[in-house]
Amino acid sequence: SIYMLFTLFCANLIGAAGSYALEYANRRAFLERRLLHEVATHDGLTGLLNRAAFEDEIRRLWSQAQRDRQPVAVIMLDIDCFKAFNDTYGHQAGDDCLRRVAVAAGKAAQRRPLDFVARYGGEELVVVLYGADRSYAEEVARAVLVSVSGLKIPHAGSVVQPHVTVSAGLVSMDAILASSHDLGIQWADKALYMAKERGRNRYVALDPLTMRRTARDELPNDNYKTA
Ligand code: GH3
Ligand code: MG
Ligand code: MG
Repeated sequence: SIYMLFTLFCANLIGAAGSYALEYANRRAFLERRLLHEVATHDGLTGLLNRAAFEDEIRRLWSQAQRDRQPVAVIMLDIDCFKAFNDTYGHQAGDDCLRRVAVAAGKAAQRRPLDFVARYGGEELVVVLYGADRSYAEEVARAVLVSVSGLKIPHAGSVVQPHVTVSAGLVSMDAILASSHDLGIQWADKALYMAKERGRNRYVALDPLTMRRTARDELPNDNYKTA
């Protein structure tokens, strides 16, 4: 009868609405989980991995490299004379500058799927390269220096250049030489300090086995020479 058909139609409609609502709730839960994860692991200003996510990632990568007997390269980056930048242009402009530097560094450094770039703290960034020997790590450091310098963000208070530059310290070491990644970070930090000491806008590479040190100075036209 027509009444029966109508009842069936209504039941169908309710069913369809119900499954649509369920599907919608599932999708929303999925997107919310993804968003929460994104917010929890990334830095709001730069969009790079945050410090906590960095610790997780490098711990995972270091033990993987120990199993695979691979080297890991760590590059520490720090913006030159950034306090002076804030003092000259204001904190808001400082934030903008930091964001642009982070994006440029991220693009220049993150070329392979296992590598990552994180905001280590303040205006310090860190690059981790899996299976990278020193020459590849130096190539990446050079690319970051060139690309940040190429932004030509005016920096009247810099003692180095009239625009924003960064210094880098790097180390490449076999992961099995150290029980944890801490040593790699310590060496990269030491190298960064040397780069600052030697005049900034350059990188210093430390070899943890021989204690040999090489430094590169940036010259006009993005050429580099061994210091
Ligand atoms: P150096 O060349 O030796 O690195 O000199 P510097 O002035 O950059 O010295 P340092 O690295 O010690 O100073 C970091 C400054 O960066 C201090 C702080 O005010 C500023 N800074 C850190 N995080 C942020 C941030 O998120 N936004 C802004 N605007 N400034 C920041
Ligand atoms: Mg700093
Ligand atoms: Mg600095």
